[in-house]
Amino acid sequence: MCQVDEEYNGLLESPVASSATKKCNKCKETTAALVLKPGESLCRGCFKEHFVHKFRAMLGKNRIIFPGEKVLLAVSGGSSSCAMLNQVQEGLGQNAHKKLRFKPGIVYIDEGCLLGQSTEKRQKTMAQINSLFKMTGFPHHIIPLEMVLNLPPSVLEPVHLATDDPAGSYKEAVDHFMQSSPVHSVDPRVDRSELSALTDATNPQLIAEAQTQTLQELFSRVKTLTAKEDLLHTLRRHLLVSTARTEGYSKLMLGENCTRLAVKLLANIALGRGAQLAVDTAFCDPRYGDIVAVKPMRDYTAKEISLYNYMWNVPYVFIPSLETKTADKSSIQRLTESFVVKLQVDFPSTVSTIYRTGEKLQTASVTEDIERAPLKCLFCMCTLDTALGETSAFQATLISEQLSNVGTTPMQASLRPDTQTKCGAPCDQQDGEEHCQAQAVCCSHKGGDSMNLESLLCYSCQQTVKDMTSVEFLPQYIMSEAQRRNRRSEKKSQIRHEISEFLLTEDGDSPSIKADS
Ligand SMILES: [Zn+2]
Ligand SMILES: [Zn+2]
Repeated sequence: MCQVDEEYNGLLESPVASSATKKCNKCKETTAALVLKPGESLCRGCFKEHFVHKFRAMLGKNRIIFPGEKVLLAVSGGSSSCAMLNQVQEGLGQNAHKKLRFKPGIVYIDEGCLLGQSTEKRQKTMAQINSLFKMTGFPHHIIPLEMVLNLPPSVLEPVHLATDDPAGSYKEAVDHFMQSSPVHSVDPRVDRSELSALTDATNPQLIAEAQTQTLQELFSRVKTLTAKEDLLHTLRRHLLVSTARTEGYSKLMLGENCTRLAVKLLANIALGRGAQLAVDTAFCDPRYGDIVAVKPMRDYTAKEISLYNYMWNVPYVFIPSLETKTADKSSIQRLTESFVVKLQVDFPSTVSTIYRTGEKLQTASVTEDIERAPLKCLFCMCTLDTALGETSAFQATLISEQLSNVGTTPMQASLRPDTQTKCGAPCDQQDGEEHCQAQAVCCSHKGGDSMNLESLLCYSCQQTVKDMTSVEFLPQYIMSEAQRRNRRSEKKSQIRHEISEFLLTEDGDSPSIKADS
């Protein structure tokens, strides 16, 4: 998020000009130190109080994080997630007013491989992040993005938990927590057993060069920055969820702020993710089932966070991303960001207006046909938005696409490698066998399995795959799961076909009898 333009622009009161004149709006005693928005000047103390209160209020209001629960904080090193980390530290401190009672851990994903960074550069960044995390005393996991290649296919299956009354279970958890432990003795900082389990697999040197190359190959097959960012977001999420599962966390805390979410909301619309807007921007994102993602920073603007970090010396690290140093128009996400941020400069309520609109969105309970209801997108794990009626905008898009494309579209080619694309590697029947097992996707002669990714993806994720020249380098866990789902749906339709003549039609007659009469 680029905040440089707006960051301190006239927000910090110049000590020379107005020191004696302006008092804090809140306590009316101390001299104001900053103007949060026109007419809202606060002193240092009141600003801190306001900031801290917002964080606790967000968590308190939603009652999703239970006392004693293990929560994994996704920290990118940027200002927003570092402010989140700082708030958790403060909240767990001995003299915190309303003490937080969960057990935090931190995860950082190093994406240096996609930026072509050298091993030395990546190690330097990780060392910086490591020392930042060490200061907190929380368990932490520093994970190279390459680890995504080792994920099991099960990461793509949402794990459903028995859902009972959430309000009741929250109260139960609080009671249990109070009984089982005197409140003040639970200090996550001294959980040695967890501390010892850290950072073993986190040394980038341990990552085989081949894995780095595979990941680079994958991204080199993606033609646009828009699709690259989308794919990276997907992979990163899978890695976060998987880390949370294997390390025993049940919540994932994300540092997305209000400005970020406003940009995301508009960008999502442009990317065709309309059906997922609500779940993507809400406080609580339950799509993974057992791991619930929460966004406690969603009420803060980027400006507020920058001011807070500046005034209270919250450390953060500048880490370049795919978007860094790219032009405004290089991707849909980047363009939306620049649009919102520039508009915000002249119209300070831009972000809050977009954000409040997002608040009103709710996941519409689309009339799902029962058989299709559990179908989730293979990539983003949202409910598939492609199983819609014939009059939907999606169908209209498909029709116009068909009309304007004579013959096979590039997507069909790349999505059905069995008919069009071979893996490129020399691959004859004999010595190709081993190779094909490794690739699983690209070669048709392995059991005649046809891959149909298209039907497993939501509209927007289909667009991302369309922007890829080939899918051969997609991580194995994705391809295995895709094959499994394809096989399952084939079997389903086969069974349906076999039993079709025994099924009753809607008016109660069996089709065969009907034919006779
Ligand atoms: Zn004050
Ligand atoms: Zn999707």
